[in-house]
Amino acid sequence: MDWRSLDEQYIISTYKRLPIAIAKGSGNYLYDTEGKSYLDLFTGLAVNVLGHSHPKIVQALHEQGEQFLHISNVFLNQPAIRLAQRLVEGTIAGKVFFSNSGAEATEAAIKLIHKWTKAQGAGREGIVVLRNSFHGRTLGAVRLTRQPNVYQDFPQPTFPVFELEAEDAAGLRSLCQEAKPAAVLMEPVLGSGGVIPLSEDFLREVEKICREEGMLFAMDEIQTGMGRTGKLFAYQHAGVTPDLILFAKGVGGGLPLGGLIAGTQLMDLFQPGDHGSTFAPSPLSAALGNVVMDELHNPSFDAQLQEVIQYLWNGLESLRERLPEQLQALRGKGMMVGIPLSVTPEETSRLQQNLLSEGILVDVTQKTIVRLLPPLTLTTKDVDFFLAVFSRQLKALSSEEE
Ligand SMILES: *Cc1c(COP(=O)(O)O)cnc(C)c1O
Repeated sequence: MDWRSLDEQYIISTYKRLPIAIAKGSGNYLYDTEGKSYLDLFTGLAVNVLGHSHPKIVQALHEQGEQFLHISNVFLNQPAIRLAQRLVEGTIAGKVFFSNSGAEATEAAIKLIHKWTKAQGAGREGIVVLRNSFHGRTLGAVRLTRQPNVYQDFPQPTFPVFELEAEDAAGLRSLCQEAKPAAVLMEPVLGSGGVIPLSEDFLREVEKICREEGMLFAMDEIQTGMGRTGKLFAYQHAGVTPDLILFAKGVGGGLPLGGLIAGTQLMDLFQPGDHGSTFAPSPLSAALGNVVMDELHNPSFDAQLQEVIQYLWNGLESLRERLPEQLQALRGKGMMVGIPLSVTPEETSRLQQNLLSEGILVDVTQKTIVRLLPPLTLTTKDVDFFLAVFSRQLKALSSEEE
């Protein structure tokens, strides 16, 4: 079967595809239809936090599948209640709203911030976001996504959006002189914007300004959450306390699930009829989410995670010392790594292809930044394999240039 040409014939091409067809996943590896294996440092874009076919995930799939898959929000949903409790206990006092995806989490946040604004009656309106942010692709979410190639061709809902440079706390202060935004929404590490971590100082400063001005302080943890940076959520490194936390990607253990955690001043604003979803929260996604939570709370899982994060960054740093020409910078936090390359987009995509043919799957963002989003189950052996191949391919890239 020629899947590639059938794909081209029947599926609208909103993504560029890599030239392999996956037949199976197991642990930290994917296998294509020819049986070739790939170390998965992409994890379906930060989704498969426990790798593939994790035995506890598969067990939860069976158990929940034998009970029910879907029941509707008119019934109590035990897996979702349990997951919401654990999300709240791991973060801020508040309540959870569940969606199916990240973009829907952003949509819910926009509506909730708007309700808060109206309830306050303080004349505040609009949301401050960072340049190059990514908050999703639905019409409300894309308005908050400040990457021109993502938003420029589509209708713009009219609520005010203010664009701020990362690290520009003074800019936020002066913005607040001219306008009265209702909220600041930021990714603690800008993901598709180039894997750019915000400094802990900046996060604390923004929190302070939000408190002084009476603005909501909201974190988009859709990519950075669920242990990705070494803590449950990335804002926790900075010791700040958001009013609103968006989550998705890894939270459903590989199935669609997203949502937000609303702090005490927001948690009772939505009333029946204000917002909802037929599917969310899927009991099956929530059951898998509970398995992810079990693992993240398991001390030996966490110890291994911290050790591998350290090992990965030590390895990357020493590679950078050996190849200063090719590796001028390393960015990110924990299991979220951005490696900006000083080569053309074509060469970067060739490097990605070469890694693929050597059995390693990586992502590329912003055309020339290699992005690693490994499973949290990554091993030191996997790191050694990646670094050996990556170093060889980087050298090959620069010798081609000469
Ligand atoms: C992926 C992502 C989204 C959008 O999530 P979808 O599930 O693709 O709609 C929003 N914000 C951030 C930070 C993301 O990484």
